[in-house]
Amino acid sequence: MELGAHLSISGGVDKALDRAEELEINTLQIFVKNPRGWTGKELTTKIANLFKEKSKAMNLASSVVHANYLSNLATPKNELYKKSKESLKEDIRRADCLGVNYVVFHPGNHTGSGIEAGIERVNKALKEIIKDLNPKAKLLLENVSGAGTEVGFNFEDLLAMTAGIPLDRVGVCLDTCHAFAAGYDLRSKDGFDRLLTEIDDTFGLDHLKVIHVNDSKRELGTNKDRHYHIGQGKIGSEGFARLVNHPQLKEKVFIIETPIDENGDDKLNLKTLRDLAE
Ligand SMILES: [Zn+2]
Repeated sequence: MELGAHLSISGGVDKALDRAEELEINTLQIFVKNPRGWTGKELTTKIANLFKEKSKAMNLASSVVHANYLSNLATPKNELYKKSKESLKEDIRRADCLGVNYVVFHPGNHTGSGIEAGIERVNKALKEIIKDLNPKAKLLLENVSGAGTEVGFNFEDLLAMTAGIPLDRVGVCLDTCHAFAAGYDLRSKDGFDRLLTEIDDTFGLDHLKVIHVNDSKRELGTNKDRHYHIGQGKIGSEGFARLVNHPQLKEKVFIIETPIDENGDDKLNLKTLRDLAE
């Protein structure tokens, strides 16, 4: 099982690998620049090489970069659109320097222009970015909770954002908390099957690469993105047992993005998932 966590890069990106070793996990997700700003400390070749060597020495199964949160590829505003494309490009460049497998990003908010217009903006941006960079990392669109004017809370819309782009370049990242908030009832077998069928009918399950494993603090369908400890939120243990033991999800990369209210919470959430896995 590929199981990991979102880890801090404080002290340098390579330090995240030390944290992964400490948690005894075989995959990880990191930011490669300030997640709530437009800039980041320069990534030197020396650090990038250190990261690659360490990943190899640790036998890391995979690695994921999460793009910054400010980036909004669905915006109708030209200046923000341009800035957002540049920001995602920089995240991808850095991911490629580090030899990372996947870059996950949230599509963005249409802020009034409408879902269709938002989807079209994201699609245009992705085409441009892929043409310009020819990324080595696969770009994964993450499903969102559908708060405000967020686009991408179902898989049909996410797929529409990839129109005209071959699926070897793009895929999907499933966030369980976001899906639950968007109305997918992951507590029941029926609801879970419905979600997987929808992913299979749109992207195809092969193109689901990463799963953000998060319980939800808020109720089903509230469009509220509040991650919570595995098994202690509104989804509950049964839903996560189904997820980690599903025969069609064996090869997926599971990453927790659960809160750390107290020291060791990440360790506990990882243990909960390991214990649920048969
Ligand atoms: Zn997520």
